[in-house]
Amino acid sequence: MTRKSLGFVPLIWQCVFCNTQNPGPIKSCTSCGAPQPENVEFLQVDEERFNFIKDEALIRMAKAGPDIHCPFCGTRNLSTAELCKKCGGDLSWDGKARQTGQRVRTTQEAQEWQPPEPGVPEAEKRKVSPIFLIIILAVIVGCVVLLVMLLRTDDLTATVTDVQWERSVVVEAFGPVTASAWWDEVPEDAEGTRCSLAYRYTSEEPQVNATEVCGEPYVVDTGTGVGEVVQDCTYEVYDNYCEFTAMAWVAVETVTETGRDLAPAWPALSLLPDQREGGRNEVYVINFRDGSDTYRYTTSNLQDFLQAEIGSQWVLQINQLGGVQSAEPAN
Ligand SMILES: [Zn+2]
Ligand SMILES: [Zn+2]
Repeated sequence: MTRKSLGFVPLIWQCVFCNTQNPGPIKSCTSCGAPQPENVEFLQVDEERFNFIKDEALIRMAKAGPDIHCPFCGTRNLSTAELCKKCGGDLSWDGKARQTGQRVRTTQEAQEWQPPEPGVPEAEKRKVSPIFLIIILAVIVGCVVLLVMLLRTDDLTATVTDVQWERSVVVEAFGPVTASAWWDEVPEDAEGTRCSLAYRYTSEEPQVNATEVCGEPYVVDTGTGVGEVVQDCTYEVYDNYCEFTAMAWVAVETVTETGRDLAPAWPALSLLPDQREGGRNEVYVINFRDGSDTYRYTTSNLQDFLQAEIGSQWVLQINQLGGVQSAEPAN
């Protein structure tokens, strides 16, 4: 986030002794003469629009830096002062610079503000009712029971009735492919590149080709009795997004071989010069019968599959949904 300055506005401060409202840069009460206290709160005068200061000298003062509070007599001095204008004390000796950058309230906000009531402590408010706790506990127990039921399996012995296998190989070809990427990610051999501006990211700092997005202006304390109107902005950066054609390996075909025996084989490939083998995949299915019930076990484990002679006995683990969790030949 970048804080952007829009200009400076006058602030006021209220004397704690006589309640007189004084202009911000005036360091002692115009009515009773009391100095601005160290923790004085400057307030923004309520107004529809900001009444920007045009006085160059006042703006220079606001930009020079925060006032320094005299450690000897409590008088506030300009940041440029070395000795207190009232008592002549050396301000470099423990002189406190006023805090800056905090948001300034309006006089109306300051009037409406009430100190928080010293009511119920925070910890007690957060206490959860016991009924709510019991409900939560019941839901957790219910979930655990459901999970245990789903994971519970029953063992049974079944006979292999039928087997199936399917093996496939992906064929890839090297050829032109249309793709898109940011200009700095386009491959060097790309052709027919066409780019247009598109939103890429949001930056905290100003950038080239960026759209500025700013929040509502507000006033911050400069520590001088003058307020600075600022706006927090971010920058939506636009960049060239390109479409292009480049050479790459792409899947063009999947060759599949299937069978219903215990001799699975990979499909024979006849590759062209600009083709190569891509990924391989194998799926084996064993069907079982136990009385009138049938079960289907799917695996990619060839060693298991090769033992599935028709008529052989297997031990199956069946989950609560009727699915075969695991299968192995019975001894
Ligand atoms: Zn006063
Ligand atoms: Zn002093």
